[in-house]
Amino acid sequence: MSGKNVTEVRLADAAGIAEAARILESGGLVAVPTETVYGLAARADSAEAVARIYAAKGRPDFNPLIVHVAGVEQAARYAEFSPEAITLAEAHWPGPLTLVLPRRNDVTLAPAVSAGLLTVALRAPAHPAMRALLAAVNFPLAAPSANRSGFISPTCAAHVLASLDGRIDMVLDGGATPAGVESTIVAVRADGSVEELRPGPLQIGTRGEGASIEAPGQLASHYAPGKPVRLGALDAGPDEFLIGFGPVEGDITLSAGGELAEAAARLYACLHEAARAPHPRIAVAPVPDEGVGRAINDRLRRAAA
Ligand code: AMP
Ligand code: MG
Repeated sequence: MSGKNVTEVRLADAAGIAEAARILESGGLVAVPTETVYGLAARADSAEAVARIYAAKGRPDFNPLIVHVAGVEQAARYAEFSPEAITLAEAHWPGPLTLVLPRRNDVTLAPAVSAGLLTVALRAPAHPAMRALLAAVNFPLAAPSANRSGFISPTCAAHVLASLDGRIDMVLDGGATPAGVESTIVAVRADGSVEELRPGPLQIGTRGEGASIEAPGQLASHYAPGKPVRLGALDAGPDEFLIGFGPVEGDITLSAGGELAEAAARLYACLHEAARAPHPRIAVAPVPDEGVGRAINDRLRRAAA
């Protein structure tokens, strides 16, 4: 199914979701809005379908995927849930929290989903389109961000097409995604401790240093707009496109009022616009390193790496 030259764009209404479910059923690729960014979904129980995700994205095969499920009951088929993991899932699912848990031995997931690790990353997303799709199929969905590997993540259907048009079967268009940065990823250890592997919309767990080992996808250079990026800028150099925040005005702004949630929601749209601008360089105003600002700064550092 994939590898077609034409990517169909459908509204995320009942008919669009039914068609998306049919494509996924037969092993195809569909980009779907979630509350964080658009995900590129394939059935997680099919090695062929999962291989298509890696091929369409040009994603290195050591970078594991997040498996999306309807809720804890479905997730418990694939991973060992400690009491701490159950508490976290019950508190934050559906929502932008990914749990990295010990993978069960008997699972029907394609091995490539966890890239050879003994753990599996699971999330129950809150976006109504993704929830409707998960309810329409009887398998979990592997879904990394719907962009070519290393490029800026997509927060609207046009961003998806900008890097994957012709490489995937369908985009379900559900408008702009509300949170705007990828899910918070935490690992729940055997001793019950919780370590943050990737900052995101939710603030949970202790800040880990093991992220590079634990989450191989946390590559230093990522989310790259294809131009040099300078951080902490108070004004623009002559050849720079300035992304502002709060009092730093810029050519565009993450949030004129200095609001972090708005800045997170607008982050990738601003980076896409900066990438398209004629300026050879990008500068970004300082963003406070608190709350979801930690996730914003994490992604900006990778864009600048
Ligand atoms: P993306 O969906 O493109 O944001 O990428 C998924 C992220 O989840 C990557 O950063 C992966 O490293 C991370 N991830 C997925 N599975 C695991 C796992 N089993 N252990 C640690 N990190 C994981
Ligand atoms: Mg990604």
